[in-house]
Amino acid sequence: VHDPSDTSNHSWDLLWVALDLETTGLDTANDDIIEVGAVKYRGTERLDEFQSLVNPLRPVSEFIQFLTGISPTELAKAPPFSAVADDLQRFLGDCPIVGHNIGFDAAFLNRMGLSALGPLYDTLDMASVFMPTQIGYALGHLAEVLGIDTTAAHRAQADAETAAKLFLTLVARLRGLSPAVRVELRRIAERSDWPLADLFREFGGDGTAAEAKTEVGLEGLDTKALVDRLATSGTLQRRPGTTPVLPEEVSRILGADGALAGTLDAFEYREEQARMGEGVAETLSEGGQLVVEAGTGTGKSLAYLVPAAMFAVRNGRRVVVSTNTINLQEQLIGKDLPGTVDALRAAGEDDASELRYGLLKGRGNYLCLRRWARLKNSESLSPIEARTAAKLLVWLQDTSTGDRGELNLTAQEAVMWSRLSAAGYDDDRGRCPFTWKGMCFYNAARRKAEGAHLLVVNHALLALDASIGGLLPEYEHVIVDEAHNLEEVVTQQWGYTVDEDAVAAFLDRLTGGSATAGLGLLAPITALTRSITVPEVRRRELDALAQGALDHVGQAKERSSHLFRLLTDFATKHTPGDASYGAEVRLTKASRTQPAWSQVEIAWEELNVLLSQVTNDLDRLASAASRLSETDLPDRDDYQMEVAALQQRGVEMAGALKAAVANPDEAYVYWIGVGARDGAVRVSSAPLRVGPALNELLFVHKDSLVLTGATLSTENNLEYIKERLQLDAPREVLLGSPFDYPQMVMAYIPKDIPEPSHPGYMEALAGAVAGVARAAHGRTMVLFTGWSALRNARGMLREMLAGDDITVLAQGADGSPRQLVDRFKREDNLVLLGTGSFWEGVDIAGEALSVLVIARLPFNVPTDPVFAARSQQFEDPFNQYAIPQAVLRFKQGFGRLIRRKTDRGVLVPLDRRISSKAYGSAFLDSIPNCTRKFGPLSDLPAETARWLAQVPLPAPR
Ligand code: SF4
Repeated sequence: VHDPSDTSNHSWDLLWVALDLETTGLDTANDDIIEVGAVKYRGTERLDEFQSLVNPLRPVSEFIQFLTGISPTELAKAPPFSAVADDLQRFLGDCPIVGHNIGFDAAFLNRMGLSALGPLYDTLDMASVFMPTQIGYALGHLAEVLGIDTTAAHRAQADAETAAKLFLTLVARLRGLSPAVRVELRRIAERSDWPLADLFREFGGDGTAAEAKTEVGLEGLDTKALVDRLATSGTLQRRPGTTPVLPEEVSRILGADGALAGTLDAFEYREEQARMGEGVAETLSEGGQLVVEAGTGTGKSLAYLVPAAMFAVRNGRRVVVSTNTINLQEQLIGKDLPGTVDALRAAGEDDASELRYGLLKGRGNYLCLRRWARLKNSESLSPIEARTAAKLLVWLQDTSTGDRGELNLTAQEAVMWSRLSAAGYDDDRGRCPFTWKGMCFYNAARRKAEGAHLLVVNHALLALDASIGGLLPEYEHVIVDEAHNLEEVVTQQWGYTVDEDAVAAFLDRLTGGSATAGLGLLAPITALTRSITVPEVRRRELDALAQGALDHVGQAKERSSHLFRLLTDFATKHTPGDASYGAEVRLTKASRTQPAWSQVEIAWEELNVLLSQVTNDLDRLASAASRLSETDLPDRDDYQMEVAALQQRGVEMAGALKAAVANPDEAYVYWIGVGARDGAVRVSSAPLRVGPALNELLFVHKDSLVLTGATLSTENNLEYIKERLQLDAPREVLLGSPFDYPQMVMAYIPKDIPEPSHPGYMEALAGAVAGVARAAHGRTMVLFTGWSALRNARGMLREMLAGDDITVLAQGADGSPRQLVDRFKREDNLVLLGTGSFWEGVDIAGEALSVLVIARLPFNVPTDPVFAARSQQFEDPFNQYAIPQAVLRFKQGFGRLIRRKTDRGVLVPLDRRISSKAYGSAFLDSIPNCTRKFGPLSDLPAETARWLAQVPLPAPR
């Protein structure tokens, strides 16, 4: 790719080698190489290749044989690595080595004695920087999106060839960036040990390139273009009085021959949608509260957006729409709101063109340009700091929002983000020059929100604004979609969690940890103690301050480890039942009287003293900084803001720990949890009740409130949600769904499955799932209530289905939830096992999901701390609380099966209690009325096959 603006102007004749290894596993210290593939290039010209199987002199697992297609017989005939090492070393020479996650391969080669390898150019690193918004960075995925031909994946030679082509494509991307960006990338990389520094030197230009219109400190950014992108227009002009939106106006737009039918290609008239729209119009115009459950297929977002948009524009008022999921936010902003504007224009609504809408998130979602510039311009950077700064520089060329949601951040980058986001700066709107100059993403989003008629937010921000205020612009009308999640989100938002990492991150922020070379707040002070421009007395003072802080931080880290060790022991010892899948113990009056707890209290007191000393150190640091000149401490204002933000974080964290350990509030629940996977111990708190506070802080202050969702009712009434959220005599509407469920869904209820607590239950469950999966050619999803059953079922099903060409994919074991769902949508003959978010976060339309198995009725674990504490507030906790919660979860799970009018499916609840217990009917009666069959397990496969083989349902017109 030739770029005319390329000032580096060299012919690219670099020799380089792309390399890939296949190995017996992922442990670089103990696994062994089974295949080497490499290909040599000069610039873009392919010169040579190197390929060999390698005998690892040990057995290879079936999984690796399956993954690579390499058989033990082939390996037995291959030479050991020692026999190919010299040839490989000669082939590599000192050329740069290119590969996908090349550090992994290099670690194997180093262990096998290959030394003096050339610089490592990781295509994963490069893709992360040059394609910052790409949804995934796996080699196969990148090859697919970039149109790179691949042959056999998971073979060394083929993967090396793919990595080589990917490298060339990414180099072309680098060369396609403007000279100013390339120069800046080079500057960032050169101040770190990041291996890609060599590459940026090669293509980064010589530093004399003309810089774009920018400002000192923001090199590489066209700041004028950025300011233009962030500019907003329009303010909300409230009109006197209220011009109502009449129900019949809304039903005309949502009607069979209405404006939406003319503007939306896939529009279908739905009576339920029109009725909901009328109810929302009435509530907005007359005030009050409305709870409306609208089943799948109603088109509820348009049903509230149309009247909300009409009302907001006519009256110059803001309507806030709150959602739980990012998916729904994206759908509203990207599709439904533009569709609403089109429909209103077509309907002749005079003011529709003036409608402004926007999305506002919490501050932690926005990049703080000031923090980013500070990082980018640090004197030295760790590799991860350099990579993150470079990635954000590339992204900043285009983003108009600065919203993290646009980025794909790796785990390490996400940690960096938490230091670079706008979170933690208070009262910065008037003081920060980035705001005056129109370059603050967060304040730009707020300005846009202030001018918006319809403002989309999430439940967490809604709840936080209700409790602390000042985050959202004023509003009097609110529509809460996905309202069944509101209580849970508010519980999390008003609670607090602290773990050892959070304490360590707080302390490292002051003194600099391993990954924070450029960011420790003491660093500039320590540098000044060596500066000859600072008077001796002052230097001694600063040195004493720095030494004192270092001592306190060191001791605090040690005391923190001690405290969290004691908390782990306490949780493990006091967790009821099996702690092997994670320990969790609620802190009650009784648990605080245990002998071991007094040790926890003593450890906390010791840590508390040190945290107070660190907070004092931060105070002294702030006042020392205020006495330094700008010459001695450049960016002094930034520095003081960072110190203040850190101090605030420390105070909050210490307050949360103190409440949990020593000073509990009766209105809160406290608990200790130990993660099953990472062993991390967390101390958490949550409010016991959120309904009364939500009512007091939010609902009573709003002229109108609409709560909606697909799963709000239990047994056809809304009593449960009304009680939980303390609603005040709302209007209530239950709309059902426009789908013909008796034709679409058969619920097959086996009467002879053992009870879930019975020893034969897991075998019976796996047998039933295997049977339906064969009958439905895979296309089966099984929802579990816990990890242990999911893992057991995975093992059993893999054995049972091994000869049927049906693959079993399990959450937590076979890929990320997104990867699993994508694959399930694309391929037949798959069984997908999920828990947690799969109950409501999965949207799979069509035949891909034909059978939904619900392994157990989704009752909450009785020992869950918040559930247990809340249960105690009911006279009859099982019937008043446990059952309604489980019923709502069951309905959410059921909702995965049918997404469109043409879907047909089978529901298989494999929990006998649904037919044997009196409460079982509450579950079946709460889902839409479908065809029900009760029968033996043995008939399940045949009944499934028969149901799915019926003639397809008619497609929508
Ligand atoms: S106003 Fe705050 S968030 Fe915005 S750039 Fe300045 S410091 Fe960062």
